[in-house]
Amino acid sequence: MIRNILIFGAQGSGKGTQAELLAQTCGSMNISIGNIFRQEVYKKTPLGIEAKKFTDEGKLVPDDVVNEIVASRLKQKDIQEHGVVLEGYPRNIVQADALEKIISLTDVVVIDISDDEAVNRISKRLTCVCGKTYNTDYNASHVAGICDECGALLFIRDDDKPDAIKHRLETYHKETEPLFLMYEKKGILHRVNGEQKINEVYKAILKALNMETP
Ligand SMILES: [Zn+2]
Repeated sequence: MIRNILIFGAQGSGKGTQAELLAQTCGSMNISIGNIFRQEVYKKTPLGIEAKKFTDEGKLVPDDVVNEIVASRLKQKDIQEHGVVLEGYPRNIVQADALEKIISLTDVVVIDISDDEAVNRISKRLTCVCGKTYNTDYNASHVAGICDECGALLFIRDDDKPDAIKHRLETYHKETEPLFLMYEKKGILHRVNGEQKINEVYKAILKALNMETP
């Protein structure tokens, strides 16, 4: 069965890591909107330059820009054939409506953490230009400050700095959380406790989705 799964969670909930694990288990594509955009920024494409103006200020990229890039990716053959685990999208009702028209969702997972925990975790996050992220507490690089994958210097993203974090959490509560009710009404919403170890969160997700632990 092809599954098209959305993963939600506040910043710092570990949704990127969980999405990666889940895509491996399902044999589906893992699409992180954050990573797609960071690659565009890194390559300095017109879209990347446009997106960076917003993220530099801790703001989200406008819906029409995001919808366009997601639609073009989701229509590709690999996703039609293998399904997708999508993370970082949709963030509001406009994006959710756009998504409805592209794919049929089978499951929605929400990873719950408190705001305090979110701020605590994000303040320890380091990012690489290649898209890989680390956390100095539980997912540190082998050599401090250097990426394991590509050897580049790690940095704190502008939108991981305290004021930007607070702004993003407010936006998540105000614009993203209301979507959960919509998915709950469809009977495809699952909530898991994100304030536990990565592998415990993953087990909870598999259980919610009626999947075997690999
Ligand atoms: Zn790297």
